Amino acid sequence: MSCPAFGAASRRSTRGVDVGSVRIGGGAPVVVQSMTNTDTADVDATTRQVAQLWRAGSELVRITVNNEEAAAAVPKIREKLDRMNVPVPLIGDFHYNGHLLLTRHPACAEALGKYRINPGNVGFGQKKDTQFSTIVEQAIRYGKPVRIGANWGSLDQAMLTRLMDENARSPDPLDAPAVAREALIQSALLSAARAEELGLPRERIVISCKVSGVQELIAVYRELARRADYALHLGLTEAGIGSKGIVASAAALAVLLQEGIGDTIRVSLTPEPGESRNTEVIVAQELLQSMGLRAFTPMVTACPGCGRTTSTFFQELAKTVQDHVRERMPEWRLKHRGVEQLTLAVMGCIVNGPGESKYANIGISLPGTGEAPAAPVFVDGSKVATLRGETITADFIGMIEEYVANRYPVIGGAAGGEQGDAA
Ligand code: SF4
Repeated sequence: MSCPAFGAASRRSTRGVDVGSVRIGGGAPVVVQSMTNTDTADVDATTRQVAQLWRAGSELVRITVNNEEAAAAVPKIREKLDRMNVPVPLIGDFHYNGHLLLTRHPACAEALGKYRINPGNVGFGQKKDTQFSTIVEQAIRYGKPVRIGANWGSLDQAMLTRLMDENARSPDPLDAPAVAREALIQSALLSAARAEELGLPRERIVISCKVSGVQELIAVYRELARRADYALHLGLTEAGIGSKGIVASAAALAVLLQEGIGDTIRVSLTPEPGESRNTEVIVAQELLQSMGLRAFTPMVTACPGCGRTTSTFFQELAKTVQDHVRERMPEWRLKHRGVEQLTLAVMGCIVNGPGESKYANIGISLPGTGEAPAAPVFVDGSKVATLRGETITADFIGMIEEYVANRYPVIGGAAGGEQGDAA
């Protein structure tokens, strides 16, 4: 199978794992997921955040199920979401007490679309195996898939110790990070094999092995993809805050996605104080769209600006246009087929402005230093207008709206205008 981006060989899983109506792997596009940071027991707050994440484009949303109150809240959250027409599948994140919560709260077990367990956090000592079995049995009983998600920060210590001892006795010992990587991979794969022995079909198992270092993540997933054909959840854990988290996640995930590794992704950003949780969804989408793997929302090309730009107006226009398309996308997506393929350009002067504008569906070049106060607008490569004065922003937004209405067919209705088909 080849990857749509530059024909790279794909190692994406051929096994499709169905989580409600969302398919992971099996030839489906790479799925974007996210996680709430509300107290799950707070039904209203969690429902609100799940809905926000879904509207931002998250196709699966994970919620922590950490105690009795959270487990009791899950079916209520599901019900509220259904009443709001928010069909996004919920993934329950379980640590230590998942076996108890899933058996004591059948409505929770039923309402979730998938369970996520960490083999390092299922339980301690001899109880670990029985508690793991109980969770898998619940998944079988309710027909749910399970993500077996090993994590660097909660590595199975018994396995790590065993591998370290074996490595010490080896005539050709590996370095400690390589042994830790092996422990992480074995922890996930042996747990998956155990789940299959218990009767969970391979088509209901997703694997992840998350670490927080870029090079470590790439090494772990290359090895994981080489050894097994389970659907893979990809993500750099504890990526961090702001640009650091975005850059580290993009650097790691882009390498793997380009190699065809990864069937679903999450970008684990720490939100800045006051920042929307939606940022992690937007970053995940932009990563996939920048790589040409999926299209979610119209792309705005903007030059960086330089000494030729006379004011902040150019930056403000680029931001207003970007914000406008994001705000309008939930409605456009439902109404206009293919609108996510729309391309826009906002350029700061005539050096590269008209040229770049011609490559976009709609592009505008603002006047740079010493240039006449006029902003030519190109639509599909042809100059159609020159905007001037105080209303440039409103006029340009109006042209975008008009283009969308006319260019992209109305879903379930007649084509919107004379240009007919979508790009
Ligand atoms: S298009 Fe003009 S304003 Fe933008 S970076 Fe290039 S020279 Fe500077």
